Amino acid sequence: MVGRVFIDTIIKDLVDGKELQPNDAMMAKWWGSDKQCSIIDRCLQLFGGYGYCTEYPIAQLFMDARFAKIYGGSNETLKDVIARSM
Ligand SMILES: Cc1cc2nc3c(=O)[nH]c(=O)nc-3n(C[C@H](O)[C@H](O)[C@H](O)COP(=O)(O)OP(=O)(O)OC[C@H]3O[C@@H](n4cnc5c(N)ncnc54)[C@H](O)[C@@H]3O)c2cc1C
Repeated sequence: MVGRVFIDTIIKDLVDGKELQPNDAMMAKWWGSDKQCSIIDRCLQLFGGYGYCTEYPIAQLFMDARFAKIYGGSNETLKDVIARSM
C-alpha cells in the first residue's frame, strides 16, 4: 500500500509536468523492486520444486525480479545515497 501510494504520486507528478526528484526516484526503485522480489518469492514457493525449474514461467519471473535489485543502481547503493541526503 505504501509503495502504491508513493509510486502513484510520483507518476501523477510526472504526468502533471513536475520534475522527478532524484531521491524520490531512488526510493521508488528500491521499494518497488524489493517488494517485487518478496512477492514473487512467495509466489514461487507455491510451486514447490517446480518453481525452481526454468521450464516454468514462475522461475523466469523470479530471475527477472531478482535482477531489478541489482541494475540501475543496486538497492544497497541507492539506500546509501538516500541516507546521505537526510
Ligand atoms: C544484464 C545487465 C544489464 C545491464 N544493463 C545496463 C545498462 O543498460 N546501462 C547501464 O548503465 N548499466 C547496465 N548494467 C549495469 C548495472 O547497472 C550494474 O550491474 C549495477 O549498477 C551494479 O553494479 P555492478 O554490477 O558493478 O556491481 P557492484 O557495484 O560491484 O556491486 C556488487 C555488490 O556489492 C553491493 N554494493 C556495492 N556498493 C555498495 C555499497 N556502497 N554499500 C553496500 N553494498 C554495495 C551491490 O549491491 C552488489 O550486491 C547492466 C547489468 C546487467 C547485469
